[in-house]
Parts: sequence; structure tokens; C-alpha cells
Amino acid sequence: MSQLKYCQGPKCHTHDTKDRKRGPKDNKRNETRRRSHFYYLNGNACSMQCQGDWFEVYGSRALDHFGRITEPKVLTADNAWRKRYDWRSREDGGYQHYVYNHLTEEQRPITEQQYDNENTITPNGQLNI
Ligand SMILES: [Zn+2]
Repeated sequence: MSQLKYCQGPKCHTHDTKDRKRGPKDNKRNETRRRSHFYYLNGNACSMQCQGDWFEVYGSRALDHFGRITEPKVLTADNAWRKRYDWRSREDGGYQHYVYNHLTEEQRPITEQQYDNENTITPNGQLNI
């Protein structure tokens, strides 16, 4: 059985639902949700509401901690590459893989191995072949 973890939404316990209720009738309380898996906040919050609550409380501090963007990031032809494929576009019915520059609209065919290789395009969008 996978490990249970708590929703990281700081106000999770204040959202009143049946599944958060604990305790006997004369001593009821609501608790933070606990699950093996969550879908929000990268697997750390039980709902969009709790994700939003987290961001409201911690979002600005997270930006300050990890560093704010203080000058514009720039997309040029050099870092505008993406991998793409066309379905059944080859004569044999296979996929045609290619790299596509979404600034210049240039296309260059690549092999399926190059398509599957995560180093073909850098995380910054530069072509690496
Ligand atoms: Zn929650």
C-alpha cells in the first residue's frame, strides 16, 4: 500500500465536506485530507481550491525564494525549436518526425531515435543535433 500524505492546502480543514469530518457527535472536528495521491499542486493538494489557497499564502514567497524574472526572457530563432511528428505521413504509413522552429517555421526531418532522445532539443529550446 502506498504511503498516505496530507494535502498541503493551508485551509484544507476549513472546507466543509463530509469526508473531512472526524470524531464523535459531541466533539466533531474537520481535518486536512489525507490520500495516497493528489491531482493538484504537482501532486500535493486535494483540490483546485486547496491549490489556490496554497498559492495565495505561499506563492509570492516562493517567487522570492527561487528568484523572480527581472529582465525579459527572449525567444529567438536559436531557441525556438520543438519536436513534432505527423501521423501516417510517410509512404509506409509511419510517423514523420521532425524538428520545427516556431519562430521561422523551418522544418527539418529527424529520425524516430532523435525524436525519442530528450537531448535532441535542450530544455531552453536549442537544437542539439
Ligand atoms: Zn485539501
